[in-house]
Amino acid sequence: MHELEKKVDELILQLKEEIEGISDYIFNNPELGDEEFLSSKYLVDLLAKNGFDLMYPYLGIKTSFRAEYGDDEGPCIAFLAEYDALPGYGEEKKAAHACGHNWIAGSTVGAALVLSKIKETFTGKVVVIGTPAEETTGRKVDLINKGAFHNIDTVFQMHLNENNNLYAKALAMDSWEFRFTGKESYPIQDEPEIKSHAANILSNNLSLSNCTFLAISLSVYLFAFLSNISKVILSFRYIRASGMLLNFS
Ligand SMILES: [Zn+2]
Repeated sequence: MHELEKKVDELILQLKEEIEGISDYIFNNPELGDEEFLSSKYLVDLLAKNGFDLMYPYLGIKTSFRAEYGDDEGPCIAFLAEYDALPGYGEEKKAAHACGHNWIAGSTVGAALVLSKIKETFTGKVVVIGTPAEETTGRKVDLINKGAFHNIDTVFQMHLNENNNLYAKALAMDSWEFRFTGKESYPIQDEPEIKSHAANILSNNLSLSNCTFLAISLSVYLFAFLSNISKVILSFRYIRASGMLLNFS
């Protein structure tokens, strides 16, 4: 096993209580959209305790926050934490975490915590943005309009599904167009220095930074971890630039 993977495994075990604690606390204190005062405070306190710089409330949204760890050079990656509950559960029609936002907060904040502990292995910044009221007003839209994502390169989040899903897909992608000039060829029969090879080489090298790789694997790992899968070994075999297909083994 790669040394970094081993280190990540160790850290996840070290932080096990904190990560599971997030999920348990939010689950046991269900709050509706824009009223997530306990949940947001819990996350803010935990991130501050772990050395993150905090803005809370964030951009005038009372239960939103932004936590940052790292430097201004290199990629800036963000994890989104949701923590609002749904209304109308049980005989008393109370709020409850029926959609798993407690897990979303646990896995994204957990991934950010783990990354912050291995900061010496990459250049860049890890950001956690608390995004309230997902089920009602959808504060992510306000956060976008207020510029919360302006200097962020990549954003990660997980959501519950009906099965354990190790397939990651990008919801927001830019399309890039590449134009190759030179002599056309078919790679098997023609000389090596020509256009189709340039295209192959480009597609093989279009990959994300190490930091981003790790962020995706950590997110999925921790989500699986909170879902009680005993062990998911993640190692990236390849990323296909078109469609960001990730293979785990
Ligand atoms: Zn949901």
